[in-house]
Amino acid sequence: MATYKIAVVPGDGVGPEVMDEALKVLAALEKPYPNLRFILSEHPIGAACYQKTGTDLPDETLEACKSNDAVLFGSAGDPNIRFDDGTEIAPQLTLRFLLDLYAGIRPIKSYPGVTPLLTNDPPIDYVIMRENTEGLYASRGAGVRVGDEVAVDNMVITRKGTERIVKFAFEIAQKRNGAPSDGIRRVTCVDKANVLKSQAFFRQIYDEVAENYPETARDYAYVDAYTVYQVRKPEFYDVVVAENMFGDIISDLAAGTIGGLGMAPSADVNEEHGVFQPSHGTAPDIAGQNIVNPIAQILSASMMLTWLGSQHNDADATQAAKSIDDAVARILASKSAHTGDLGGKAKTTDVGDAVASEI
Ligand code: ATP
Repeated sequence: MATYKIAVVPGDGVGPEVMDEALKVLAALEKPYPNLRFILSEHPIGAACYQKTGTDLPDETLEACKSNDAVLFGSAGDPNIRFDDGTEIAPQLTLRFLLDLYAGIRPIKSYPGVTPLLTNDPPIDYVIMRENTEGLYASRGAGVRVGDEVAVDNMVITRKGTERIVKFAFEIAQKRNGAPSDGIRRVTCVDKANVLKSQAFFRQIYDEVAENYPETARDYAYVDAYTVYQVRKPEFYDVVVAENMFGDIISDLAAGTIGGLGMAPSADVNEEHGVFQPSHGTAPDIAGQNIVNPIAQILSASMMLTWLGSQHNDADATQAAKSIDDAVARILASKSAHTGDLGGKAKTTDVGDAVASEI
């Protein structure tokens, strides 16, 4: 029997609401998977925590994130509670740096039953690999401001940081079936190599790593043009790799094309640690009303199980992840539990109930 210790950090805004539904779904796995057990421990994080204790990421929470088998994260931050320099509280970014979670995995997948912004035929099914530890966000908290006149943030691209994320992207492509439009395994390098030295370096290293994967097609796009391709030909993409901030932006646009932020899960991992959270933030406009879509959080819990399955060579965990994915696909296809963002009337709690009972 496999027992996994999970650090649960619901955070602010809609975080606790979507987390409750994901935990409901994990609990539903106990009966069909008697050999899979979770020990859950909840920890404070985020803006409310900062207001109360003076820190958004207490030592105890960080320690739990390091020592547990995985971290299930809700969302954190509040536009009304900020650090002294005016920036928003974002412990999820701090965690990525402190745990060196260099690989941000953002699957973008359309589902039958969810009216897409774009055509669903062929379906959209690609993965954005966002570099998480450097790029422009390396300047977070470290940029320079000179009075009221000048402010500077630097884009940091290192050989090591780029090699490992590009390698990760090509490895993920080996496990997939290629792009929906033509079945070709393809890794697209999204950058701004035509303007910035740092980005030309990123592309150079992409090419060096790609040499080791001759069976996988190379592809390139400048990030500005890529936003058009995401809308015009999303079915062409299989795996996409980008610097930190570009990856952040194209992930949100991609989520919009498959039904909105409530549909997009994510994983931030390295060889040792994994943090799993929805791509959306705290959505303060809809918090506390039982109307937020919890699918992204539920699918993030599924990604956590897939990761645990591969880390521990545990077929039960891998299969349990598939049970969640299949249950989500079924309830979306039947339109039995669509929240308002998907054009339905279901409550947040209805969605969790529906997925749990489907399992
Ligand atoms: P952040 O800056 O941390 O990304 P934010 O509050 O600016 O957070 P999001 O929370 O990501 O932005 O979401 C923007 C808007 O999209 C929300 O205000 C909300 O209206 C909508 N939204 C986001 N997530 C969901 C969801 N799961 N279900 C329904 N609507 C959502």
